[in-house]
Amino acid sequence: MNTVLHTPADLVAAGLAPAGAAAELESVAARYAIAVTPTVAALINPADPNDPIGLQYLPSREELETAPDEQVDPIGDGVHSPLKGIVHRYPDRLLLTATHACAVYCRFCFRREVVGPGGAGGLTPAELDAALAYISDHPEVWEVILTGGDPLVLSPRRIADLVRRIADIPHVKVLRVHTRLPVAEPERVSEALVSALSGSRLRLAVGVHVNHSRELTPAADAALARLAGAGALLLSQTVLLKGVNDRVEVLGELMRALVERGVRPYYLHHPDPAPGTARFRVSLAEGQALVRGLRGRYSGLCQPTYVLDIPGGFGKIPAGPAWIEPAGAGLAATDPWGGTHILPDEA
Ligand SMILES: *Cc1c(COP(=O)(O)O)cnc(C)c1O
Ligand code: SF4
Repeated sequence: MNTVLHTPADLVAAGLAPAGAAAELESVAARYAIAVTPTVAALINPADPNDPIGLQYLPSREELETAPDEQVDPIGDGVHSPLKGIVHRYPDRLLLTATHACAVYCRFCFRREVVGPGGAGGLTPAELDAALAYISDHPEVWEVILTGGDPLVLSPRRIADLVRRIADIPHVKVLRVHTRLPVAEPERVSEALVSALSGSRLRLAVGVHVNHSRELTPAADAALARLAGAGALLLSQTVLLKGVNDRVEVLGELMRALVERGVRPYYLHHPDPAPGTARFRVSLAEGQALVRGLRGRYSGLCQPTYVLDIPGGFGKIPAGPAWIEPAGAGLAATDPWGGTHILPDEA
């Protein structure tokens, strides 16, 4: 199996969907893009309907049902987009979305209403010029975050050109890239692509989207090693997903696997209410309990920050458990195992 699976018929032929489901899945495919790379397909156990890799990538009829709280633009990118391709919500950093295509399409994606092959996603040369002019005109922008879609699906030539143009803006010091490519299609994180990314004066940070330790295959390890070899600061982003990684041991094992590969656990995202993603939803209380469990059992290196993007565009906030709370004249501190300790508040 050496081709990317794009249609329900492809999934049936590969044994990843039952033949009887094809017609129903066509309605899902008409609405949300499908792509399963050979690397990902090889990780899925077709006999297990609850396989944590399969759940992330295989379409389900449940995607056609939109729950009342679900929103097309769950984190409010639109209200902070001054022009096409830019989301500027915080003064010192902004998102530059050069493409809306990805190597794989995750069923829980928070931008699922805009990602997909072709179409409205990419920026025309004139739109890219305008986006870069916006960055130039905003001296407070210290960091440019390439996102999408997956920016690393662009050719090394286009990436080199984009990086060079960003590096030409003197006030930008850091280039961050958000990508799933190292785990979704690791061979595409080639030496050519890595040198295109890293060949400028900018400090390069790569935020790798990984949700389960099984995604860290030897090929993914090699892709991460190529990025690390070029001096990139490697960070992880994990989405907390029901059935995929909503257990302390699964999260702990993932965080350890990341640290062992030189990737610093960065964010654990509370799932955003994107349309048709109810099957992945975990409550904040459940997420907080998981974070408490991680703290007690795993190294401090293995502790990502649990974050919630407040719907409507109000920003990301730490959403972890409250370790210290007011109690009478003092404070009550909860230890990682659930014990409570009263402390005087001597401020
Ligand atoms: C998530 C996000 C960022 C990056 O936030 P950090 O906390 O710096 O990782 C920047 N801009 C927007 C609009 C975002 O959604
Ligand atoms: S790779 Fe990222 S942007 Fe693309 S579908 Fe997955 S979560 Fe969405």
